[in-house]
Amino acid sequence: MSDGASTPAIVVVGAGPAGIAAATMLLEQGARVTLIDEMPAVGGQYYKQRSAARNISRGRDLDERVEKGQDRLAALHGDRFTLLTDTLAWGLFQPSQVATLRGDTADILSPDAVVLAGGAMERAAAFPGWTLPGVIMAGGVQSLLSKDGVLPGRRFLVAGTGPLLLAVAGEIAEAGGQVVGVVEGSQATAPLRHLHHFWGQMRRVKEAWDYRRVLAQHDIPIYSGHVVTAARGDGQVEEVTFARADANWQVLPDTQRTVAVDTLCIHFGFEALTEIARMAECETAWEGDRGGWHVVHDDGMRASQPGIYVAGQLAGIGGADLAESTGALAGLSAAHDLGLLSERSYTAQAASLRQDIAQRRDIARVLNTIYVPGAALPDVVTPETIICRCEEIQASAIDTAIAEGALSINDIKRRTRCGMGLCQGRICSPIVRAYVARKAGASPTDVGLITARPPLRPIPLAALADLPDEHVGEAVSAV
Ligand SMILES: Cc1cc2nc3c(=O)[nH]c(=O)nc-3n(C[C@H](O)[C@H](O)[C@H](O)COP(=O)(O)OP(=O)(O)OC[C@H]3O[C@@H](n4cnc5c(N)ncnc54)[C@H](O)[C@@H]3O)c2cc1C
Repeated sequence: MSDGASTPAIVVVGAGPAGIAAATMLLEQGARVTLIDEMPAVGGQYYKQRSAARNISRGRDLDERVEKGQDRLAALHGDRFTLLTDTLAWGLFQPSQVATLRGDTADILSPDAVVLAGGAMERAAAFPGWTLPGVIMAGGVQSLLSKDGVLPGRRFLVAGTGPLLLAVAGEIAEAGGQVVGVVEGSQATAPLRHLHHFWGQMRRVKEAWDYRRVLAQHDIPIYSGHVVTAARGDGQVEEVTFARADANWQVLPDTQRTVAVDTLCIHFGFEALTEIARMAECETAWEGDRGGWHVVHDDGMRASQPGIYVAGQLAGIGGADLAESTGALAGLSAAHDLGLLSERSYTAQAASLRQDIAQRRDIARVLNTIYVPGAALPDVVTPETIICRCEEIQASAIDTAIAEGALSINDIKRRTRCGMGLCQGRICSPIVRAYVARKAGASPTDVGLITARPPLRPIPLAALADLPDEHVGEAVSAV
C-alpha cells in the first residue's frame, strides 16, 4: 500500500477516540493513513453521545470534550488521508493484511502497519426474563436518544453496574422518560476505599456529582448494593424484581421488591473486542482491573505480532481520555518504527504520553475494580434461563456440558452451540464465563475466549468471489 515515494501507509481500524488520535498522530508524522469504521458516522462510542436531537446536555465539561473530539475529527483530511466509513474489517492476516467489506465489495488492504482501535462492547448478564422485549442495553438507549431523539419506553428501571447507569438514567429523565430507580450492584461504600485515587481528579468527581444532581432533580432513587433478579411480562417487560445483595452480589433473603416498568435498561461494564487481534495471533491476557480480556502490548502499544499496534478499550477498559492517549502513542510508535521520526523525538513524545496513560490507567483500574459484576450474580439464573440468545441455549444445557467435564468456552460451544449464532459469542461469552466460574469454580483463563476466525461477521460469499485475483485464494482459505 506504500506509494511510489514509499511514504509508509497505515490502516487504523476503528474511528473512536483512540483511532482518531492514532490517525491524527500518524498524519502529523507524515504517514499515509486509511481510517476505517463499520459505522456510517465516525466518532465511536464516546463522540456520538451528545443528544443533539433533544438538546440533552450531560454537563458543560463533557460537552466541551465531545466538541474537542469532533474538532479533531474535522481536522483529519488531506492527500495522505482516506476515510472509509460503512466498512467492516472482517479479517486480519499476517503480515498486516486487513480484509474489508464495504457494501457488497470485499477488499484486502496491505499496509505497512495496522493500528487496532475497535473498542469494546457492553456486557449483558443473564437473569430470568433478560431476553424479553423491553430489556435494552444502556448504549442502545443512548444511541436511540442521541441519533434519533427516540425514547424506547415510558417507565424505566436502569440496572447493572458502573457510572454509565447514572448517566443514562439522567438522560432518560431529561428526555421525558420516567425512571423509577437505578439498581447498582456495587455497594455505596465501595468507592470510599479508593478515595485517594481521585485526589487531583476533580473533573471525574465533578462528572459523577453532575450525574447525581440530575438524578436528584428528577427524584430518581439509587439502590446501591442491589441486583435485578428477574424481569417478567407477557411478550414484553411489565415488571422487574430486584433485591439487596452483599459485596459478592449474593441476594439477601426477604429483600426483594417488584416495580412495574415497560423498559429495563441494563449495563454490566464493557468487554474489549479482541477477536480481530486474535485472528492475527496477537497475545491476549486477563486482568480484572483492566476490565478483563485485553490485547497485550509493550510500553509503545505494540502488540505481540510485528506491525500491529493496539489502542483504546482494546488495550484495557478505560475512559475516552485514556483511549486518546493510547491512540496517540500507538500512532507515534508506528511512525517511529516505520522511520518517520527520530529516536530522540520519539523518546521525548512517548515519555509524555506514557505519563498521561499511567495516570489515566490508575483511575480506570479503580473503576474496573469497583464496578465489576459480583461472582454470585449467576445464582439468579434458573435452568430455563437463556444463556445464548442467538441459539436459544438454556442454562440447563450448560449445566449438562459442565457435568460432562467441559470448562472452556470452546468446549461448551462445541457441545451446546452456545456462541455459534449471529453475534458469534460476543454477547454470551461473558455470561458463560461468569456462569462456569460460579458453577465449576473455573477461572477466566480456564474458560478462555471463543476461537477467533474470519469473517468477524457473516459476509456474502459473492463478495469474496469478487476479490482481486491475487487475494481470492488467501481469503477463501482463511474463511
Ligand atoms: C454507551 C457508552 C457510553 C459511554 N460513556 C462514556 C463516558 O461518558 N465517558 C467515557 O470516558 N467513556 C465512556 N464510554 C466508554 C467509551 O467507549 C470509551 O471511553 C471510548 O469511546 C473508547 O474509545 P475507543 O476508541 O477505544 O472505542 P470506541 O469509541 O468504541 O470506538 C471503536 C470504533 O471502532 C469501530 N469498529 C470496531 N470494530 C470494527 C471493525 N472490525 N471494523 C470496522 N470498525 C470497527 C466501531 O464502530 C467504533 O466506531 C462509553 C461507552 C459506551 C458504549
